[in-house]
Amino acid sequence: MSDRLPAHLRLATILVIDPSPTDRAQICDCLKQLPDVRVIAAGEAGEALEVIRSTSPNMILLDSTQKDIDGISLTRAIRHLEQSGISADFAPWTPIVFLSSVADEDVLAQGILAGGDDFISKPVSEVVLLAKVRAMLRIAARQREICHVHRQLKEIATLDSLTGIPNRRYFDDTLATEWKRCLRTETPLSIVLSDVDFFKQFNDIYGHQAGDTCLKAVAGTLSESLFRVEDSVARYGGEEFVAILPGTDAEGALAVAERMRQSALELCIPHASGIDGRLSCSFGVASARPGPHLAPQQLLRFADAGLYAAKRAGRNRVSLSRETLA
Ligand code: GH3
Ligand code: MG
Ligand code: MG
Repeated sequence: MSDRLPAHLRLATILVIDPSPTDRAQICDCLKQLPDVRVIAAGEAGEALEVIRSTSPNMILLDSTQKDIDGISLTRAIRHLEQSGISADFAPWTPIVFLSSVADEDVLAQGILAGGDDFISKPVSEVVLLAKVRAMLRIAARQREICHVHRQLKEIATLDSLTGIPNRRYFDDTLATEWKRCLRTETPLSIVLSDVDFFKQFNDIYGHQAGDTCLKAVAGTLSESLFRVEDSVARYGGEEFVAILPGTDAEGALAVAERMRQSALELCIPHASGIDGRLSCSFGVASARPGPHLAPQQLLRFADAGLYAAKRAGRNRVSLSRETLA
C-alpha cells in the first residue's frame, strides 16, 4: 500500500529495540533529526515482534547485548516473520543493525549469521548512527523497488497479453504442481481442453480484430465458468483454452465442461459459418488419478483425443476421452 504513495508522502519507519529506557530515548532523539523518518520504539522482544507485524518498519536498530533480550533469537524470529505468508521470492528484507557495547568478534559473526546486517558500537556516535541509517534506508528502498518490479514481471510472464488470462507457461507450471499435489493426496485431476469452432472462417468473415475481440470474450466467459479457487483456465495457444481441475473426477469435469460450453454459446456472438449462426466451442475432457506410471502430458493427450472426438461428432459439444483413468 505505502509503495504506491508518492515519494513525498512516504515516511521511513525505524524501530528501535532497546530495553534501556535512557538509551532508547537517546537513540530515538538522535534519529528524529533525519527528515522523512518516523521513529518507534520497543523495550522487549514480544512487543517488538508485535510492532513489526503491525507496522512493517523499514529498518530495525536492535540492542543485542542486554540480557533482557536475546538478540540472536529475536533476529531469527524477525527473519522468520518476513518469510511467512508471502512467496519467498518476494520476501521483503528489513535491515537489522545491532547496537552493541561488547566488541566481541564472535558475537558479531553470530549476529550476522542469524540475519543481522551491521553493527554499531555503543556508546553510539551520532554521526556514525545517522550515516549508517541513511545508507541502510537507501539500500532497503532499492530492494523494495526491485521486489515490486519482480512481482510485476512475474505476473506479466504468466499472463496472456491478448486475453489477460493465464498463459501456456502458467498452465505448464500449474499442471506440474497440481499433478504432484494430487499424487500426494491421492485425488483425481481433470483437464478440459477447448477449441473455438470454425474460427478460421470467423476471421475470414469478420476480420482478425473481431477475432481477437471474440477470443477475449471467450477467455472471460470460460474463466467465469470455474467456481473453485483451485481451478484455473489458461490460453493454451491460438483459439484453444485449457482448464485444470484438481481434485475433480471425470463426472465433475464433464459438468464443468458443459457449463463452459454453455457459457461460450450464451455469448451469442454471431458467426455466419458457425452452428446455428452462433459462435461455439468444442471440449475434450480427460481425468486421471496421478500415479508413478502416468505423466501429466499423457492426460493432456487424452484430453486432446476427447476434443478431436467432439469435433468429429459435430462440434459444440463435450467429449470425455475414452482413455480416461479416474
Ligand atoms: P475447427 O472447428 O476444426 O477448430 O476449425 P477452426 O477454423 O477453428 O480451426 P483451425 O485450426 O483451422 O483455425 C484456427 C484459427 O484460429 C486460425 C487462426 O487464424 C485463428 N487464430 C489463432 N490465434 C488467433 C488470434 O490470436 N487471433 C485471431 N484473430 N485469430 C487467431
Ligand atoms: Mg485449434
Ligand atoms: Mg478451432
